Amino acid sequence: MTVLAIADHRRGDLRDVSYELVSAGRQLADATGGDLHVAVISGDVDEFGEKLNLDGVDAVHTVANGEEFNHDVYAGAVEALYAEVEPAVLLMPNSVNGLDYAPAVANALDLPLVSDAVDFSYDGGLTATREMYGSKVETTVDVDAERVAVTIRGGEWPATAGTGDAEISAFDYEPDGELGSRVLGFEEVAGGDVDITDADVLVSVGRGIEEEENLELVEELADALGATLSSSRPIVDAGWLPPNRQVGQSGKVVTPDIYLAVGISGAVQHVAGMKGSDTIIAINTDPNAPIFDIADYGIVGDLFEVVPELIEQFN
Ligand SMILES: Cc1cc2nc3c(=O)[nH]c(=O)nc-3n(C[C@H](O)[C@H](O)[C@H](O)COP(=O)(O)OP(=O)(O)OC[C@H]3O[C@@H](n4cnc5c(N)ncnc54)[C@H](O)[C@@H]3O)c2cc1C
Repeated sequence: MTVLAIADHRRGDLRDVSYELVSAGRQLADATGGDLHVAVISGDVDEFGEKLNLDGVDAVHTVANGEEFNHDVYAGAVEALYAEVEPAVLLMPNSVNGLDYAPAVANALDLPLVSDAVDFSYDGGLTATREMYGSKVETTVDVDAERVAVTIRGGEWPATAGTGDAEISAFDYEPDGELGSRVLGFEEVAGGDVDITDADVLVSVGRGIEEEENLELVEELADALGATLSSSRPIVDAGWLPPNRQVGQSGKVVTPDIYLAVGISGAVQHVAGMKGSDTIIAINTDPNAPIFDIADYGIVGDLFEVVPELIEQFN
């Protein structure tokens, strides 16, 4: 069974989900002894193509057309690639871009679409796992079709590394007629200077911090660790930090090497955004806080005592 995965990039960089798509695609291809094809559309496709020659990739298709994401180019190019590769599974990212073109492609190709998959298996047919009701319930979807389109949630599969020996080839694609959509420019939202999804170490603060003035304490800890500051939702709802710092289901999905949760209870909607972190450390006064169920290391204690001690140790 051939799998075709479509990489994602923004402003000149491949996004992490591109490397995760390779792991997810390889998992499916292995289940059936099939090939994994990866495609990259627009931008510096020569450089991206080299980067996507990863362990387990059999073929890379590069589609040179424009610099940034464009709905019409992506939808048309994916449809053309699908006709060429004839995959049983078409994998796309559940990113802003993926969510834009995946439904259009599935509709045009008359494929069932499973969106936001967090896991799947293949045993004669695809079974995908999705989360519902704010990640409170897991559902399994059995796909009753020979071919299927799937978008995967970022941070759910490990990123694939290691150079492979894929065949890299240019795929010629020209849109039919005038493009209906155009990119007019790229505007960062206010406070968009920090991308918490890029951070290797996150110090994340929750309601346990009590007052806005107390944020200074966790900022000091983040500085001492060379970390980036993120937070749970109540901190953003209170206006103490901007929305781009929020981790979780309605915030960002992060996968740092270290995630230090300070005064965060570990509600499912928060955990949905950080459970893919390599090492999770939690500081919480409540030994029964759910965050301890997923933490690798935990300190049951008052953050106002523990954090100053940590700052002193690291400085
Ligand atoms: C549709 C929907 C989407 C949502 N999306 C998100 C999301 O994206 N991200 C998100 O975070 N939440 C989200 N939420 C909210 C989520 O349900 C929780 O309310 C939220 O995560 C709780 O944040 P918290 O852990 O900071 O606060 P709390 O749950 O109030 O926990 C505070 C913790 O701090 C501890 N504490 C208190 N004082 C101290 C101290 N001195 N020292 C150490 N520990 C202390 C307490 O024991 C407690 O465990 C969403 C909710 C809904 C309904």
